[in-house]
Amino acid sequence: MLKINENEKNVKLRTTDGRFFIECPQEKSEMVEDVLSRLIGISGWAKTAACKKTVDDVLAACVEEGKKISAAGIKTFKIDARRTDKSFPISSYEICCQAGNAIINAVKELAVDIHSPQDVIKVEIREKAYVYSGGKKGLGGLPVGSAGRGLLLLSGGIDSPVAGFLMAARGMNVDAVHFHSYPYTSLEAKQKVINLAKITGSYCMGIRLYILNFTGVQMRIKERAPAPWTTVLLRMAMMEAAEKTAVKIKCKCLITGESLSQVASQTIENLTCAQNRVKLPVLRPLIGANKENIIRQSERIGAYKISILPYEDCCTLFTPAHPVLHGGVAEANELYESLELEPLIEEALKNHELVK
Ligand code: ATP
Ligand code: MG
Repeated sequence: MLKINENEKNVKLRTTDGRFFIECPQEKSEMVEDVLSRLIGISGWAKTAACKKTVDDVLAACVEEGKKISAAGIKTFKIDARRTDKSFPISSYEICCQAGNAIINAVKELAVDIHSPQDVIKVEIREKAYVYSGGKKGLGGLPVGSAGRGLLLLSGGIDSPVAGFLMAARGMNVDAVHFHSYPYTSLEAKQKVINLAKITGSYCMGIRLYILNFTGVQMRIKERAPAPWTTVLLRMAMMEAAEKTAVKIKCKCLITGESLSQVASQTIENLTCAQNRVKLPVLRPLIGANKENIIRQSERIGAYKISILPYEDCCTLFTPAHPVLHGGVAEANELYESLELEPLIEEALKNHELVK
């Protein structure tokens, strides 16, 4: 469930009546809200302080809340009261009436509007009494872990972290694999991918990143394959290595950030070539998305500023001037088999680096 730093002994999670309560000292609330803003599966949250369960204390807390919303520029409000503790001396309806009156008497700038208020002051009488307003919208989606585990092919670009996030938001636990070509690609490029994995992982309660050195595979492709085919063949090799990793760590599918016809390797024919040797399903949550929407999502999850850092990617380094656009599967497989990549892929798998 919620992953708050284990050293935070004074932050406590409690569940009652379909609600989660997080109790923490004021100075920890920023950290708690940061965690909540990344927690897939919740519709929202609000910050509140518990007050004593007497009518006077609840009304006083309502007046304080009224002053707070008025200071924030709010002009109209209503009260929404719930009383699960029926021993509280007045009903929900009476709480609304008395609190509304107390507020308009104390804060002259505020007026009640039951139909379309600018803000709602909520009162909940449970084991303790809570008064709050505002509230923040959560990410929604399905709780991570409810939909199995998938392996994300994570590059240093914009698309793949968004693809990972979207699958996490459908309840999937996400792990990642990255292919680099050190020393043709730099250590900074690798660190950039580690940072992107951290961001993706912050939404799915951690991530295991498998880093594979694909220099041997890329060099073999460059030496032996016709130049226009190199990208498609590299994609086929990546899929094969990703599937082997996925099977080993019990992931049920591969996830990529591919989007139809975005680049030459993402025509429907080339996507077909890339996946034709793997049996696991390849999920492409961005297949129909346009780049502006992907960028907006990337900004929202906090990945964009890292994704646009100008470090080289292993694919771009070996990109041919005139790539095949509509590769045929039979020809792709024939070329692929002639490259004898198996031992090089095994070598990359054996020497993988794991970052948790
Ligand atoms: P991205 O922004 O995700 O890099 P892109 O537009 O640059 O996407 P490509 O470079 O064609 O597109 O990559 C398509 C997909 O292939 C990526 O979204 C990712 O899932 C996978 N991929 C590409 N390069 C790598 C890599 N070096 N390691 C792991 N996966 C990769
Ligand atoms: Mg890329």
